[in-house]
Amino acid sequence: MITYEKASQLVLKEARPLGRETVPIEKALGRVVAKEIKAFLSLPPFTNSAVDGYALRSQDTDEIELSGKEICLKLLAEQRAGDYFAGQIRKGTALKVMTGSPIPLGADAVVPKEEVDERGNFIFLKRKVRKGENIRLAGEDVKKGEKIIERGIVLRPVHLGLFAACGIKEISVYCQPKVYALITGDELCPPGKPLKPGMIYDANSSLIRALVESSGAKLLAVKRVKDKLANLSANLERALNQADIVLTSGGVSVGDYDLVKEAAEKMGAQRIFWQVAQKPAKPLAFYKFYLNNRKSFLFGLPGNPGAVFISFEEYVRPFIKKIMGQKDYLPKEIEATLTHSFRKKRGRLNFLRVKLQLARGEWLATSVGAQESGILSTLGETQGFALIPAETEFLETGTKIKVHLLE
Ligand code: AMP
Ligand code: MG
Repeated sequence: MITYEKASQLVLKEARPLGRETVPIEKALGRVVAKEIKAFLSLPPFTNSAVDGYALRSQDTDEIELSGKEICLKLLAEQRAGDYFAGQIRKGTALKVMTGSPIPLGADAVVPKEEVDERGNFIFLKRKVRKGENIRLAGEDVKKGEKIIERGIVLRPVHLGLFAACGIKEISVYCQPKVYALITGDELCPPGKPLKPGMIYDANSSLIRALVESSGAKLLAVKRVKDKLANLSANLERALNQADIVLTSGGVSVGDYDLVKEAAEKMGAQRIFWQVAQKPAKPLAFYKFYLNNRKSFLFGLPGNPGAVFISFEEYVRPFIKKIMGQKDYLPKEIEATLTHSFRKKRGRLNFLRVKLQLARGEWLATSVGAQESGILSTLGETQGFALIPAETEFLETGTKIKVHLLE
């Protein structure tokens, strides 16, 4: 049995990007940038008005301050959004502009529409307008040639908006790993069907589907398989031929019908590890395959849903993230103070389901209650997993602990 730290290190060591592809920005949400991008134009591309109003020469309004009287400027034209006024603003004149309109030559400020009286071809204003007022300078957002995104960043909606504003239509991203899930267990019944005595509803198909979809990987299939070696082997072979990562649920422990290891090893899998000194998810297995010149991996996840969840968050998600080229692939970690004492057996690292609370700049962690790996209900309110070291037997109230935050 190996330690959590070692197992996690062995998993991440195998995670390498699968290549790059170019995708239109409409398809890029959640993908990871493979090549940094530099802006090929400035943003905004031209100096423009921040309000609906009148572009003018600020010095023309100086006399208002001296005399206290309103002044009058001649309106040259109206410039609507998308128009371009090629003339110049000379002494005593102004141009009616809309938000985003280019600032015409000669003008150095815009007075908002609400502060002006427009009568005929003239505008009347009562206050001094300062130079630069309501003007957005070309390049104040992004300068031409400036880096707008780095490699390894996960694309969020705002990035896509920024790319579009910069005139970028497609971008280079890392390829997504393909995932195939096999859900083992003769006792499993799909929700929607009547439950026969001795059977349970299959939670892991739905859980694993959602976890994979939320990770950014491409889910090929989730298939329930019976605990029969021939059947499991055939399905495993089919999965490995298509996927980069195969996830199995159940059948990886020491029971008579726990056949995942046997099926994998019969196909020539290289066992990287089986069994980790952790609670829950002790039976976790990790295998590497070379089939038809393709490399693929198998995570043998335990059957209990709580163990599936932990294994996914601690091992599978970071593995997928790293393959997808993400810079930050490890679980986010904080230090928190335990609000109660905690007792455990020596020998295995415990992942303690906790709720978190911020008090005077300090995170407080409190157990959510039931921790057994078959229990699903308390996972809903779990905000993180506290990592209680293998050798620890007792923690006092107030002990500082590490917590991995859930996404
Ligand atoms: P196993 O490792 O296959 O013996 O499974 C361990 C425990 O998890 C057993 O109590 C199983 O019934 C349960 N289990 C396995 N697969 C699922 C599933 N898909 N949904 C809910 N519980 C499961
Ligand atoms: Mg089973």
